[in-house]
Formats: sequence, C-alpha cells, structure tokens
Amino acid sequence: MSKTQPLIFRKGLDMKEAVAGELAAAYHSTLVDEVRASDFRFDAGRLTLHLAREFGFCYGVDRAVDYAYQARARFPGRSVFLTGEIIHNPHVNDRLRAAGIRFLSDPSENRHALGPDDVVILPAFGVTVNEMLRLTEQGCTLVDTTCGSVLNVWKNVVRYAQDGFTAVIHGKVRHEETRATASQALKYPGGRYLVVLDRDEASMVCDYIERGGDRQAFLARFADAVSPGFDPDVDLRRVGCANQTTMLMSESLEIGEMFGRAIRARYGDAHVAEHFRAFDTICSATQERQDAVEALLASEPLDLMIVVGGYNSSNTCNLARICAAHVRTYHIADPDCLVSPAHIRHRPIGAPSTANAPETLSSDWLPSGRVVVGLTAGASTPNNIVGQVIETLERFTAA
Ligand code: SF4
Repeated sequence: MSKTQPLIFRKGLDMKEAVAGELAAAYHSTLVDEVRASDFRFDAGRLTLHLAREFGFCYGVDRAVDYAYQARARFPGRSVFLTGEIIHNPHVNDRLRAAGIRFLSDPSENRHALGPDDVVILPAFGVTVNEMLRLTEQGCTLVDTTCGSVLNVWKNVVRYAQDGFTAVIHGKVRHEETRATASQALKYPGGRYLVVLDRDEASMVCDYIERGGDRQAFLARFADAVSPGFDPDVDLRRVGCANQTTMLMSESLEIGEMFGRAIRARYGDAHVAEHFRAFDTICSATQERQDAVEALLASEPLDLMIVVGGYNSSNTCNLARICAAHVRTYHIADPDCLVSPAHIRHRPIGAPSTANAPETLSSDWLPSGRVVVGLTAGASTPNNIVGQVIETLERFTAA
C-alpha cells in the first residue's frame, strides 16, 4: 500500500463554468422550464398534464453529477473512476461512461490496482468506512460527493455508537447508502446496527424488545441485517433510530414511534431516555418531493399518474407507492417505456420487499377522450428525461 496522502476534493474542482454548457446540453429541458412557468400545467390536444411542484434532481444529485463532470475536465490525462453508479439513473450513468469515466463496479475493473495516479469519485450516497480507508491507503485522488444530508445521518449514527446505543436503520440493507451508514456504527468499539426494511420487520424487532423471543430465530431472520456478533438480548436494550434518507417519510416516522412504544412498554415511561433515541433523517429533498406529490394528488382529479425514475431508485419507488394509494400509477424508467397509446412498460408498485419485481407490459393504460395525467420524477431523474416523457404524452394524445 502507498503511504501517499490522498488529495480529497469536497467543495468542487474550480471547473464549474467549464462544464456548465456540457451539463445543460445533457440534462436541461426547455419544455420543463415552460411547464414550470405555466403553474406546472401543460395542455395540448386532449391532454392536461399536472407536474408536481418539486420533482427530479435534488441538491445532492445535482452536485454529485456536476463534480463528476468537473473531475473529468480537471484531470484529462488521468483515469477517472466512479465506485459504482453515481446515482440510480441509467441515463446519467451511461452519459458518464460516454464521457470516459470508468466504473469500479464493472467486472473488468480491478479495485486493488488503483494508485496515486487515479482519480476516484465517491457517490452522493457515500461509501463504507472500509472502502474509504482502502482508497485513502491507495493514495488515490478522491472527489467526495457524499451528500450533506447523508453526512448528517452518519453523524447521528456515530453518536449512537459512542453513547452505547444500537443504530436501528430503516432502510434497504443492500442499498449503498444504508451499507455506508451501517458501517459508521462500527467505527467505535462495541458499535452495533440493525437494519429494518418496513413496518413488518420493525414489528418483529419491537416484539422482541417487549417480550423477548427465540434468539436463534431472530438472528436467522436478520442474518444479513445486523452487525457482526449481534445479540438481540443485549443489543436491543438501547436503540437509536435513523433511516436511509430516501425512505417513505410516513413509514419512517411510524417505525420510530413503534420503537418508542416498545421501549416504553419494556422499561417504563421513566426510563425511556436511557433506552431510546430518535431523530428524523429523511432528507429535505425527499420530503419535499413526497409532500409535493401528496399535494398534487389532493388538488387535482387525475386519471392516472406517471412516476419517472430508475427502478432501483429508492426515492422514486416511494413516490410511486404514495401515488398508487390514490390513483392508477405507472412507475417508468424512461420515456421509451411509453411504448404506444396502447402499451406501457413499467415496474409493478408494492412494498419495499417487492423491489426486485421485473418490469411488466400493460395495455389500455391511456384513456380515450380527455385525459388528465399527473407527473413526477425521482431525485435522480434529470429534466431532459421528464421533458421527453411530456413530449411523448403530447404525441400520444394529439387530437
Ligand atoms: S436524495 Fe437527499 S440525501 Fe440523497 S443525494 Fe438527494 S438530497 Fe442528498
């Protein structure tokens, strides 16, 4: 391993103006600007479209993509890598590949061969403590785009570990952000974590806190979701709640309350503070997008809702779950999913546990006659994709 101290860029690379034109050409949409300026409404032929007032790229994604282009421009003669997908949007990742950025997650790349000449971009959702340590030891130049909202979660999880609380993380155990957040709990000796996916899993853990249970069955059920050496009889005595920043806010809050109730039932009101901590770590961008779509659903009578974003994008899936509870909703990955006025490709919407459900083809999705469509997009979906969806809908509903 090299002893070279790595250079770490966390506040840009002084190339913002140099890449501004390239970014605008890649991701901007004049049509989306026009819809925004028209009170988020678009009328054409038999179509009325309502766009949610907050949608698409969040501040963290915007910054990460900007820094990736800046890194490519700043180090033209060097290999520039991403640790994996910079965000969960296939178009953005494909464009970065086309710009010459390589992905360490590709089987053809060798993470162990990295050295001081290499530039590595860390994604908005961060990397694990071990990965950061390895890249640092290898002496790579690092461009750290970890979002401030993710860093805020890490700070709280570290504090839990320091104070002897197990971090209970509401998240997807294989999601990069949750893996990175969980690794923060292990920075301190005795630090522990447990990841719960949804209310059902939270309910099982709360039951164990209140009444105890079969230790081996518990460990088998949560084998992939707990820190090494986890002992539910010891490590659930003091718990602190946190969450992946892109989860469904209402579910995260409910899970926090469930743990609070379980602790209260087990230890009594007078001892809650000794055994339980919680704070809301849903990021403001996720919350704003969820609030905006709730407002749209409440204010407009829609025939259907379209949610655009990567199928592995947590915040997009949660927007789709909110919509599907109110109106017929299609989660599409890109404009090509609008195959024809008769057919649409989309991912079935369901609980987080159905996240890997394959894309499906449905027919008769677009009503005849006047049609009112609601539209939103996840935090990793650029405006040009949103604009192309609107253009396709306009084409399909031309009078
Ligand atoms: S979704 Fe939130 S935490 Fe994630 S990158 Fe965007 S602003 Fe940051």
